[in-house]
Amino acid sequence: MKLAAIERCPLCQCRDIALFKKGTVVPEKICAADFKITDSHYGTRWTFFSCPDCGFVFANPAPAQDEIAHFYAALADEEYSQEGEGRGRNFSTILRRLRPYAPAGSALLDVGSASGIFLNLARNVGYRVAGIEPSAALVADAKRLYGLELFCGTVEQFIANEKFSVITLLDVLEHVTDPGAFLAALNGFLSPGGMLVIVTPDIGSLAARIMGGRWWHYRVAHLNFFNRRSLDRLLQDHGFEIALRKRFAWNFSAYYLLTRVFPFLKGKALQRPLKKLHCRLQLADSWEIYARKKER
Ligand SMILES: [Zn+2]
Repeated sequence: MKLAAIERCPLCQCRDIALFKKGTVVPEKICAADFKITDSHYGTRWTFFSCPDCGFVFANPAPAQDEIAHFYAALADEEYSQEGEGRGRNFSTILRRLRPYAPAGSALLDVGSASGIFLNLARNVGYRVAGIEPSAALVADAKRLYGLELFCGTVEQFIANEKFSVITLLDVLEHVTDPGAFLAALNGFLSPGGMLVIVTPDIGSLAARIMGGRWWHYRVAHLNFFNRRSLDRLLQDHGFEIALRKRFAWNFSAYYLLTRVFPFLKGKALQRPLKKLHCRLQLADSWEIYARKKER
C-alpha cells in the first residue's frame, strides 16, 4: 500500500504539525474486511499527527485515496444490515432534527449510504432520496432490502441532474484522506441555503481522552478526527454556518455490543434474545452537526 507523508495540516496548511499518537496498523496486511462498518478491531490505528493551530488530527503518512477506494469497492458487510433496527433508531432521530430545516419533498443526497437503512427511512418520511455508495455488494443489498437505486461509485464520479436541499455525511468524513477537498466537491451538489448533516467522532471528547489508544473510533478505516474547533473551521472555510450542534447517541442491540467485545459469541444461541434487547449508548463522543450553506 502506498503511503504519502504529509508536511502541512490538510485543513489549515499550518506547518507546525506534531505526532499525536503512534500507529499500530501494518499497511501490508490491510484488506477490504478491515474497512467494514462493523469491524471490531478497535484500537487499530494509523500514526496520527495533530495541528496546533486548528486542532485537526490526521493519519500521517496517509494511505492513498485511490487505494482505499479499491477496498471500499470490494467491501461486503452482512452484519451491518442485521443491525437495521438499532441503526434505524439513530437515523430517525436525525430525520426528526432535520425536519425544521428541510421540509418533506426536499431532495436529499446521502453519501456513503451502505445498505440504505437511512435513505429508506428518509424516503418514508417524504424526502426525495439519492445515495452514493462505493461498495457493489452494499448497493445490491440496498436494492434487495429497500428497492433503492444507489449510485455505485465515488463522489468524484457522481453526476447529479439537480441540486440537493440536504446532503448527509453520516460517519463518512473520518474515512477520507482530505475532508476539505471532499466537502468542496460535495458543495457543488448542494443548493444555496441547503443543509449539510455531519456525524463524525469527536477526538476532543472525554471518552476519547479517557480511552486513549483503545478508543473505539480508532480503526483502520478512520483516517482523520475532528474536535469542535477543527470542525467549526472546516465548515466556516466552506461557507457553512452551524444551525444545530448535537451529540450523537448510538442505539445497538445487546447482541451487537456483546459480539464487539467477545467476537467468539457470534451466531450462538444468544442471538435471538439479545437482538431484542436494545441499548442506547450515550458516550457523547461523536458530533452531530446541522449546518446551512450560506446564500451568496
Ligand atoms: Zn490545522
